[in-house]
Amino acid sequence: MVRNSERRSSKYQTLESPIRFVIDEARRCIQCNEPNCVSGCPYGVSIPTILSFVSAGDLEKARSLLGDPRLLDLNRACLSEHPCEKSCTLAKKGKPIAIHQIELILLRKDKKV
Ligand code: SF4
Repeated sequence: MVRNSERRSSKYQTLESPIRFVIDEARRCIQCNEPNCVSGCPYGVSIPTILSFVSAGDLEKARSLLGDPRLLDLNRACLSEHPCEKSCTLAKKGKPIAIHQIELILLRKDKKV
């Protein structure tokens, strides 16, 4: 018989799938010295910092950085246009960080939806 603690070799295995997604996705970020995602964001959101907290599993801290109400407007305004993702350095390789989706999942989680 396998114990629960043995079944969970990683703490992330206990997390819901969307949360695992945001952590895995944030871990793809290469933390650029000159982050194009920030310069591409109309609000200059500190995306690498948020991704750093997410990749470390500190979703509460990451979520707190999304607490500015301007971001709610940002998410509404960027439903179809994701300038941060288009600017992401990894977009040149065809797979930018899914910044917008990460933000939405974090915000949805904050609303307990
Ligand atoms: S440009 Fe992309 S890879 Fe670079 S810091 Fe921003 S999200 Fe990360």
